[in-house]
Formats: sequence, structure tokens, C-alpha cells
Amino acid sequence: MSSEVQSRVRLDIDLAASGRQAGYLRAPLSRNTSGWGTVEIPIVSVKNGSGPTILFTGGVHGDEYEGQIAVSRLARSLDPGAVQGQVIMIPALNMPAVMNDTRLSPVDNRDMNRCFPGNPRGTFSEMLAHFIDAVVLPHVDVSVDLHTCGHSGDSALSTNMHYMGDKATREKTMAAAAAFGAPFNVVFWGVDEGATLTSAVERRGILSVGTELGGWGRVNVEGVRIADRGLQNVMRHFQVIEGTPETQQRDGAAATGNRRVRDQPASSLAPAGGLSEPRNVVGKACRTAELAGLLHFVEDVDRAPVEVRYRRDGIMWMSAGPGRVQRGDVVAVLMEDYDDKLAAG
Ligand SMILES: [Zn+2]
Repeated sequence: MSSEVQSRVRLDIDLAASGRQAGYLRAPLSRNTSGWGTVEIPIVSVKNGSGPTILFTGGVHGDEYEGQIAVSRLARSLDPGAVQGQVIMIPALNMPAVMNDTRLSPVDNRDMNRCFPGNPRGTFSEMLAHFIDAVVLPHVDVSVDLHTCGHSGDSALSTNMHYMGDKATREKTMAAAAAFGAPFNVVFWGVDEGATLTSAVERRGILSVGTELGGWGRVNVEGVRIADRGLQNVMRHFQVIEGTPETQQRDGAAATGNRRVRDQPASSLAPAGGLSEPRNVVGKACRTAELAGLLHFVEDVDRAPVEVRYRRDGIMWMSAGPGRVQRGDVVAVLMEDYDDKLAAG
């Protein structure tokens, strides 16, 4: 295909071929000690019969582990005989960041999820983003991109999606997110500048579901369980494998709870740089003006801590990660109940 010719990234499997294929994206990276060096990024395609194509990606941010683990496990184990359609799995897409255990790529200091639709002649992250957009996405009907908050925070275990103005698309996306079966599904507005993988996927008319399954620089045990189950559930939902999604929740709920994050008051920001003492954890119900946390100035013991308060009622979706935060950092994001009738208002 012509778009593949333009990319500097080489793909050594044929995405149109049937059966299980395991290979690499080979992305050129010239180094002092290897002028023709490449970064090898594993990709596995399992294709059989007819049905939709699902793309599972992990490791767009290197320090977000649950998706890397779950997509790798599926890539090793998925039986082509059990599949009707195709599953493309890239467990560790941003390999330089994955091996560096950071959100940003150490090659170009870029956030790959701010590089879409990319540029085949751009920086390493832009080149990789372009390859995914121009070469992989044209094969895809459904994209599930697995994230956590990495080192920048923790998250309530959740799927997420943009509020899609088209009702049919919105309902299809919400049904796919419900099938994934995380405790929460967050519908959000206006917190994206169009350079994310999600936006690239949506521009191509592909159904997109994201996740936030933990963070804080550790592997969230329950996040991995929800990720493993969610991948199976999405394949079942689209009848790529047999079975019915299992969405039973630990708290007894039968299904995912829909929430929304729509505007600035959802977030509480640090008004100063300091040592952050949160007063709550993700998943907890919080009230307007309740104390979100304190910012301490331990270098000046006489200086009183600054109080940070919630700006609305809601359940905490994301909390700050590092103890030491900078002025303007988000220290809490609250989600409200979702109501489709009120959603666009
Ligand atoms: Zn991420």
C-alpha cells in the first residue's frame, strides 16, 4: 500500500494474511554506535474467517504497565481457531519509552499520545504515530488503547471515551465500553487537542475505547485482572470469539457505571508547588469545597500549608501521583453521574 511505502517503519508481517503471525515493526533509529540501528516493536495478528478487526494497544506511555501485561498475554495465547475476524495486538507500542520506564520517549522527549496523526519524516515518536495512523488503522474497525495514569497519578479503574455527537456512534461506543466491564466508564469532553491516538482513530470513523487502569508507577493487581477480562469481553462483544461478556463488579453491581468529566471544575489544581498530601483516594465520593489535600512547604517550617478543595461533588477518578507537585498540576479529577439527556448541555 502506498502509505506503507512512505513510512520509514517496516512491518514484517502481512496484516491481510490469515492465521497467527508474530513479527515486528522495525523503526529506524540512528545512534552513535549503530547508524543503521532499528527499534523492534512486537506485533501479533490473529486472523481467521470473517468478522471485524480489533486493535489492542499497550505501552503508548512507557510507565503504564497493566495494558502491556494484558495485551502481551493475549498475544501469546489467542488461538486462531477460536477467532472469527482479526485481532491485532501491539503490547508495547512506544518501545523506547517502555524500556526507559517513562511516559515520554527518551529518543525525542515527546509524548507519543500528543503526536498523532504523526509525520513520516518527523521525530521518532511522530514517525511511529504516522505508521499507526496510515498503515495499521486502515485495517481496523475497533480500537482499544490501554492506559493508566503512570507516574502522574492514580485512576479509578475505568474505560473512557469522548462524547461522540452522533448518537448511534455514541451508543455503539458506550456498549463496547460496557462490555469491557471496568467498574466505571468515563465520557469526557474538551480535554483533548486532537493529537491523541483516540482522535486519530475517531477521525477514521473507527470505534474507540480507552482505559485508565491504575498508575502511581506500580502494577495495579485489580487493574490487570480488569484488563485481561476486558480484552476477552471486547472480543466476545464483537463476536470475534464466542461467549458473553462478564461484567459482574466486585461491589455487587452487575455492570459498569457511566460517569462524565465535562469541564474545568472537575479538576482541582495545585495553586503552588509543594509537597502534596492528598486527603482521598480514587473511587471515593467527594463534596464541593471539601478538603482535597494540603500543600506543604517543608523547606519553611513556619509557613502554613495551603489547602486545596474540590470544586464540585463527584467520585474521584484521578489523583495526583508524585508527592512533590508543581503549581498548576492536577491533584484530583472528579467524575459526575452520566445522563445522556443532559450530556450535551
Ligand atoms: Zn497513558
